[in-house]
Amino acid sequence: MPVGAIMAGLLIWIMSRREAATWIVDLLWLSIIFTIARTVLRTRARRAGHADGEFTRIDDLTGLTNRRGFLEEAARLLTTVPERPTVGAEDGGPPPGRRVSGPAAALMVIDIDRFGEINGGLGHEYGDRLLVAVSRRISAVGQPGDILARIGGDEFAVLVGGIDADRAQAVVDDAAVRVRDALGIPFVLAGMRAPLEVKIGIALAPDHGRDVGELLGNAALALREAKKSHAGHRVYDPGLVRPSPARLRLRTELRTGLRGGQIELRYQPKADLRSGRVTGMEALVRWRHPVDGVRSPDLFLPDMEAAGLMPALTTLVLQTALEECARWRAGGAQLSVSVNVPASVIVDSGFAFEVRDALGKAGVPPTALCVEITEDSLMTRREHAQRTLGRLRAQGVRVSLDDYGSGYCSLAYLRDLPADELKLDRAFLREVERDSAAAEIVRSTIALAHTLRLRMVAEGVETVSLWALLVTWGCDEAQGYFLSRPLRGDQVLPWLGQWASRAGLSPSMITMGVGGPAGVRHPAARHASAVPAAAPGLR
Ligand code: C2E
Ligand code: CA
Ligand code: CA
Repeated sequence: MPVGAIMAGLLIWIMSRREAATWIVDLLWLSIIFTIARTVLRTRARRAGHADGEFTRIDDLTGLTNRRGFLEEAARLLTTVPERPTVGAEDGGPPPGRRVSGPAAALMVIDIDRFGEINGGLGHEYGDRLLVAVSRRISAVGQPGDILARIGGDEFAVLVGGIDADRAQAVVDDAAVRVRDALGIPFVLAGMRAPLEVKIGIALAPDHGRDVGELLGNAALALREAKKSHAGHRVYDPGLVRPSPARLRLRTELRTGLRGGQIELRYQPKADLRSGRVTGMEALVRWRHPVDGVRSPDLFLPDMEAAGLMPALTTLVLQTALEECARWRAGGAQLSVSVNVPASVIVDSGFAFEVRDALGKAGVPPTALCVEITEDSLMTRREHAQRTLGRLRAQGVRVSLDDYGSGYCSLAYLRDLPADELKLDRAFLREVERDSAAAEIVRSTIALAHTLRLRMVAEGVETVSLWALLVTWGCDEAQGYFLSRPLRGDQVLPWLGQWASRAGLSPSMITMGVGGPAGVRHPAARHASAVPAAAPGLR
């Protein structure tokens, strides 16, 4: 019977009784009945609410727990993870500060690479199907008791409990590899086999937090690191600092600047050392900040990378540089253009197609484009980088290994390097005129490059004496302030005329031209007699 009807009946019954003495007793009864009724009503409401709550704790698409459910279930599981006591040596335990083992938990946040492209390219229906398939594969590799959830669009979380704290690192490494392997088997989507890559950020409880919010925050930081370094998974390290509000503001400004036409290019020439003929221009990015004026790349590229803006920046630089190159060529200078491509872009095999389209749009032959990569492209996800470089070279695009000598690139990597030239880092050249050991290293590096059929370009050549030294060592090309500082695109053709008169070249011979036989690696040798001693004799 409805509680309201009972209450109404009781009131009528009390009012119908006349004796005042019994009123007090009746009112007492009434208050007791009221309390009971209220409790019944609340319990009912809670039950109804709970049923609704269950409903909103499930992700409609995948059937997994959703973010809300995950927060609750994870909070419950984490109460079983105790603070880990530290035991001092005087207790006969581990050395001071070392923790004794105990139960621990690990939170993995899994993010699908380039999910937006799949969604955009194939449509949301396929995007949804992929998410369902991904959730099944992650579930299949999970252990009983794991809490698995979809916590965002293409973000999944797994909380693994009951781990022995001392083995936590090994357990999560193993779990992350299992997840990545399971998702690495291509999915069949729209009749195509689509391989999928994911990045995983991991935080451990209690070491990286016992509260689910804190663990999620730290796992997100680890995920960001995994994306940045192209590692498949990363465990949170307290050294991963959160970006300060100022950094976050800068990144927002960069995003706006990128969209709002604040990114500009300068072009720095490269010339053949023996003949002095100009072989091409390297595009170097600048940010025209609305308040601070022009900023150099070292001041903003790390933030561009951290904000995930490098693909967009590279696209912009590539298109702008090719359009500019087309203008120079239309103006009679058969120049090539070099574009710097970071590791985060070169590992994306789709980049080769982007280049092909950009070349077609600008009407520039592939041989007039050189892509400059750095050693880190070959260190992390080497096979992916090599695949992209192979595709670029198959089109006729040239590849240059930049800043050679500044990192730890192994000689073994050089042997099968899919590249056409090496650019010797300018720090390497700084000492050669003073230090005979440094000079010997440069000489043998030039010889090694030639043995491997790579052209050698020296960066940061600022003086005529270094230019002359490099000629005697057989280096092929030079770039540096001696030739020119980076120029605006419209300054390039006038500069070529000035350089021709400085180098004693006839105007028809200023540029080397591109598109010659790809196998000709040492045009310096061809032109050495054509323009004898032009460059070394420069004043
Ligand atoms: P990088 O690719 O090694 O470019 C050469 C840098 O050395 C340029 O600095 C150039 O101005 C400077 N330089 C050239 N000749 C000399 C010289 O004779 N003496 C000295 N002291 N410096 C010289 P910039 O333009 O500041 O660029 C710095 C770095 O920023 C570049 O080094 C490159 O790693 C990066 N960068 C520039 N533009 C782009 C871009 O569009 N995309 C990417 N991913 N990186 C870029
Ligand atoms: Ca470069
Ligand atoms: Ca360089």
